Amino acid sequence: MAERQQIRAIKGVRDILPLESRAWSRVERAAQDVFGTFGFAEIRLPIFEQTELFARSVGADTDIVGKEMYTFTDRDEASISLRPEATASVVRAYIEHGMHTLPGDVKLYYMGPMFRRERPQKGRYRQFYQIGAEVLGQSDAPGIDAELIEMLFAFFGRVGLEGLTLDLNSIGCKECRSKYVEVLRAKLLYVKDKLGADSQRRIETNPLRVLDSKAPDEQAIIETLPRIADHLCEACKTHFAEVRRQLDLRGITYNLNWRLVRGLDYYMRTTFEIIAPGLGSQNAVCGGGRYDGLVELLGGLPTKGIGFAIGEDRLMLSLEAAAKLAAEPSVDAFIVWMGAATQATAIKVAQRLRGAGIKVELPPEEFKFKKALGLADKLGARYAILIGENEIAAGKFTLKRLADAVQTSVTEVELLETLRAN
Ligand code: ATP
Ligand code: MG
Repeated sequence: MAERQQIRAIKGVRDILPLESRAWSRVERAAQDVFGTFGFAEIRLPIFEQTELFARSVGADTDIVGKEMYTFTDRDEASISLRPEATASVVRAYIEHGMHTLPGDVKLYYMGPMFRRERPQKGRYRQFYQIGAEVLGQSDAPGIDAELIEMLFAFFGRVGLEGLTLDLNSIGCKECRSKYVEVLRAKLLYVKDKLGADSQRRIETNPLRVLDSKAPDEQAIIETLPRIADHLCEACKTHFAEVRRQLDLRGITYNLNWRLVRGLDYYMRTTFEIIAPGLGSQNAVCGGGRYDGLVELLGGLPTKGIGFAIGEDRLMLSLEAAAKLAAEPSVDAFIVWMGAATQATAIKVAQRLRGAGIKVELPPEEFKFKKALGLADKLGARYAILIGENEIAAGKFTLKRLADAVQTSVTEVELLETLRAN
């Protein structure tokens, strides 16, 4: 036979194998449960959209749209991109389906893969996963911002992630921010020679992003730059003060971080980020903020909006680092049947147990006793159920607890009870 070249996964993407995927599912169920208690419903979105959607919302000058999107031309010449994030799609769907006519605020959550062509490293992949939520409606009451953050902490609490810090900022509205950006730009031009090439370029393209810089030799200069808090208009100042009071009411502590500006164009006012332990430099596990102008920008009616996106890959890494990923047994009971005449009983027992939610492994053909028990052990089964001709005659089963080899003779009802109890 000719040697065939092995085909491997593309750089920056990975497989999530059963040992991990079980924990991922648990986290996703926790999100569904917790978000459900806050009145959020799931929206399932397409993975690709017209490129224009992201160019208009995320912003053509951002790294995401400028260099990280997977863009291709479809046969009918439309430019299409794999989604780098999902807020734009949620807003598109909100407009497309006239969701503004729904009663109350529209509260949606989503989960799934996002795609960005970045340099792959720990906690940074080209296909990664986000769990996100959005609130869209007529109100921008600061209680919405605070409750959204409260929901995040309820979720992180449910999955057992601890040691988180919440960074909070307000980046103002169109009016006060653009005035601030001009003050910032003027000051940046003044210290330009002391900045690196990236920051120098950003003075023109996106001065706010200079505040994001991690370059060690720029830090001292950045500390001297004007701060947005001193330039907020009255309305934004009041809104931010009330967001903080609403967080206090909910017992949520935060860190004011005037340098938190977020990389996407559509944000305004409240912005936040959650930092998790155990992640090295890719330590932001969630980012979010208010985007009141976005619906209009995408052709809808004036609408307020706020949302967040959790990086699920990083969430899992952080849980792993904290050893919070307890392995769940994948097999509760391994049925060892001996003699062709016992197979029918074995099949029925398996059906009943599985119907009761118990994880059962049933050999598809007769295995030698030793081989069957050996496999049960290797699979990490908690129990073996032995079914031989004696058991059939007695109308009972032998239940063997594999951890200590204790054997008991049980009826089918007792079998079910024991397996359910543990
Ligand atoms: P970063 O500053 O780490 O690049 P970001 O500001 O680009 O993050 P957002 O667009 O706010 O990230 O996305 C929200 C979350 O999604 C991030 O906090 C992070 O947890 C996760 N995330 C973003 N990009 C990636 C990626 N390439 N791989 C894995 N997770 C990612
Ligand atoms: Mg990024």
